[in-house]
Amino acid sequence: MASYALLIIDMLEEFVRGRLKAEAAESIVPNIKKLADFSRSRGIPVVYTVDQHYPGIDKELELWGPHAIKGDPESKVIKELEPLDGDYVIYKRRYDAFFGTDLDMLLRELKVNNVIVTGIHTHICVQQTAAGAFYRGYNIVVPIDCVAAATREWHERGLEYMRSFLGAELLTSCELIEKLKKELSAPPSRVYV
Ligand code: ZN
Repeated sequence: MASYALLIIDMLEEFVRGRLKAEAAESIVPNIKKLADFSRSRGIPVVYTVDQHYPGIDKELELWGPHAIKGDPESKVIKELEPLDGDYVIYKRRYDAFFGTDLDMLLRELKVNNVIVTGIHTHICVQQTAAGAFYRGYNIVVPIDCVAAATREWHERGLEYMRSFLGAELLTSCELIEKLKKELSAPPSRVYV
């Protein structure tokens, strides 16, 4: 039986309104909020990943310059999507939220086999985390109106990569909610003993 978790990747001040903001970042905020509220109401775990770098030493900073530095206001999840009690928060220092974190252990303990991947940027942290999920055997769902990138072109490329090479199911957040409602209300499949 499919068991889901909602991943909300890097919806931080830095990537929504700051130095490395995604073009359509503001437009995905209400869609992610809707999906997060739905998930909480149906017992689907909500897992935030938060880019958070040590000043001066993290490899990524060589490429992008200072961003999402630990302790800075830019490294915080935006107010509209603040994690609630019962949500999980994973801090990461690389694009892939599985790398050097306990995300995989958490998802296995939660008995998750399908990850819904949302957030920023479609072709960087979202795509790399989706790849991390693929390598570990998770199925991937990407609601296309819940991810954003620096440009439309990069956004499209990221989606295409995840669809073609990671087997990600792409659909809108409304379609996903309808799909989840059907699956979650379906009677459990018969167990043969
Ligand atoms: Zn970073």
